[in-house]
Amino acid sequence: MAHLIFKDINKVYPNGFHAVHDFNLEIADGEFICLVGSSGCGKSTTLRMVAGLEDITAGEFYIDGVLANQMSSRDRGIAMVFQSYALYPHLTVYENLAFGLTLEGIDADVIDEKVKATAKILGLTDYLERFPRALSGGQCQRVAVGRALIRKVNIFLMDEPLSNLDAKQRVTMRSEIKQIHRSVGATTIYVTHDQTEAMTMSDRIVVMNAGRIQQVGTPYELYFHPQNLFVAGFIGEPPMNFIRSTVENGHIKTAALDLDLAPIVKDVKAIEGKKVVFAFRPEAIETEPKDKNSYAIKSQVELTELLGDTTNVYANVGDVNVILKVNPHKTPAMGSEFTFYVPHHAAYVFDEETEQVVESDQKRH
Ligand code: ADP
Repeated sequence: MAHLIFKDINKVYPNGFHAVHDFNLEIADGEFICLVGSSGCGKSTTLRMVAGLEDITAGEFYIDGVLANQMSSRDRGIAMVFQSYALYPHLTVYENLAFGLTLEGIDADVIDEKVKATAKILGLTDYLERFPRALSGGQCQRVAVGRALIRKVNIFLMDEPLSNLDAKQRVTMRSEIKQIHRSVGATTIYVTHDQTEAMTMSDRIVVMNAGRIQQVGTPYELYFHPQNLFVAGFIGEPPMNFIRSTVENGHIKTAALDLDLAPIVKDVKAIEGKKVVFAFRPEAIETEPKDKNSYAIKSQVELTELLGDTTNVYANVGDVNVILKVNPHKTPAMGSEFTFYVPHHAAYVFDEETEQVVESDQKRH
């Protein structure tokens, strides 16, 4: 296991493109960290700097307290799994797993023991004699993970390892990778653009945008306490609803809304006259006012989609489109007027200019 520190890490590519800005993070021994963000936000660049495949332009990177900027990839105790898992097609699963160890000149009986132990962890024991062409996508990916696992490493790096799999295989592999992490315990950095993967697998998530860290936190913290508009909009599916307005006399007012912000904002005076974004998650709304601590909001229903466990309601609040999740038995009719309730504890206000969350006394739950 390894403890990692990133101190003011920056990456500027030779063409002058500044891909990673002031990246600061400490990763504990054995932690499972996801780097998440849209394509091009600097996740792979960061991972490749950890692996020693890219130079660090500025800043310091430490592995177990040792400055590692100039350390060779070999000496970092790292194994990596990529999106394209290129197995050797002419070698069996056994030979694919054994390949790296054979190259290192390790004794055949030691290799045999390791291959069998790794195959057992990954449920590949019955497939050792098969060639990759006779395996499913998920099984191939397990062999790729196995090839990385079989070497005793302290740091496990994965770059979108599940993106070539179909939706069902992804869900299975997600929990398998978590279980492997639990049994192996290596510090893991996992890169994905998929917030569901990040939410389900991580101890902590690092949300990135345009080369900068937006927020670091547990899945719970990011979901209930997004610090800025980017994180609020990125985490959660369907995304959070945003209604833009200006604060007048402590209220937000649009053609369709007049909401007193006092219950959800600590210092209403501080945001008087400012442009803000009122926000709530589609799944946080209620169809009946459970108590008076909620906002009643009128909407016009455009479209409803029954998913089985819930119905997605696409509606308009004035000229703003919102998505609401309701109990399928409470589905409003298309075209009807629909009043829904946002509990105060589930309502957020963001400063539109700074994009930061406005402080609230509400206990989120
Ligand atoms: P992600 O993994 O989040 O999709 P990357 O780290 O791969 O993002 O890339 C971050 C940004 O750096 C992108 O805009 C990409 O085009 C740019 N980039 C990546 N590699 C190079 C390179 N070798 N030279 C110049 N720019 C690069």
